[in-house]
Amino acid sequence: MLTYEEGIARIDRFLAAHLNGAAELADRIHAHPELGEQEFETSRLLAERLREGGFQVEAPTCGLPTAFQGVARHGSGPVVALLTEMDALPEIGHACGHNLHGVMSVLAGLALKECLPDLEGQIRVVGTPAEETNGAKVSMAAAGIFDDCDLALMIHCNAGESFVDYRSLAMDSVEFTFTGKPAHAAGSPWEGLNALNGVQLLFHGVDMLRQHVRPEARMHGIISAGGVAPNIVPETAQARFYFRAPWRPYLNQLMEKVYDCARGAALATGTQVTWRNNEASFDDMLPNPTAENLIGSILVDLGVSLVPGPGPMGSTDVGNVSYRCPALQPELAITPERMSLHTREFEAALLLPEAHRMLGVGAQALARTCLKVFLDPELRASLRRDFEAQKNKMPR
Ligand SMILES: [Zn+2]
Ligand SMILES: [Zn+2]
Repeated sequence: MLTYEEGIARIDRFLAAHLNGAAELADRIHAHPELGEQEFETSRLLAERLREGGFQVEAPTCGLPTAFQGVARHGSGPVVALLTEMDALPEIGHACGHNLHGVMSVLAGLALKECLPDLEGQIRVVGTPAEETNGAKVSMAAAGIFDDCDLALMIHCNAGESFVDYRSLAMDSVEFTFTGKPAHAAGSPWEGLNALNGVQLLFHGVDMLRQHVRPEARMHGIISAGGVAPNIVPETAQARFYFRAPWRPYLNQLMEKVYDCARGAALATGTQVTWRNNEASFDDMLPNPTAENLIGSILVDLGVSLVPGPGPMGSTDVGNVSYRCPALQPELAITPERMSLHTREFEAALLLPEAHRMLGVGAQALARTCLKVFLDPELRASLRRDFEAQKNKMPR
């Protein structure tokens, strides 16, 4: 059986030999940014690198043209999944760092494979498209590809500070359509049923509900269609909302109240209402203290200073993975300077020597974390206990 120290030595030897090549690959992807679901060249380059390193690669996978799964296995044993983001942003290119931390996951998988001859288990490197738009991890998680994982993880690039307790909000995006009956708004308004009134009453209902929800909940909407002319009683009206909360089970309860508001608005106005989830529904990121402490101590050993995370802000698809298996997504500063992501400034910082150095540090941390998971059955049990405890947690 491999010792942790011997495993680290193998990982570090591999990274010393391959970090420059990986940095070149990250820069090459940076120079050719591709939007979500169009990451064809990026996906091809990463899959090719995995094949060169001896992984079996399925591409495309899960019915997504730019997704891939690379697998290296030896016998049967623990399963770790390294998530690999690939997409860029319109106009500002790789301003979220997916070029760098995508390559980081691939590099970590390749380095970890050096240990595999003396371990039992499976390394899965999963190419997950479109984080910035539709969030392919949502459908990949729903397809069950993470259900057998002892840990699924990635590092996301950050600026200025690094932290391990990344959090995000569960979110449902809903489009409501009210249908009424048109009539001349001055000549025969009594014959009409006003769909816009249905939408207005929905907004009032949601605003009244606001007083009675947890302070962490967010409900924000727009009227996306409100009729065609003032002299026609609106036949159709539409509203689009995002509803968010830091707990999926709570958000599900909240949504039932929202749907009652919609039903009530339709009843009061004599209109019909239908609704649909018009974008992917995101789950919140479940905390896994065991995984966070583990990678936290590894990052500190590697010279990274950590700060407490800022708590949840937006919503992202890695949350859905965290409801399927123990999951982890630390944020790692690839530049010491504080700046916002999704800016040209951050896009430029990704090409600096410090970012290339942090590519190596991040790959080391990911590979060491996975190595521990392979070697320590107690740790795996603890990861699973945290996951089960968090999954159905409601706010107190
Ligand atoms: Zn982003
Ligand atoms: Zn991102």
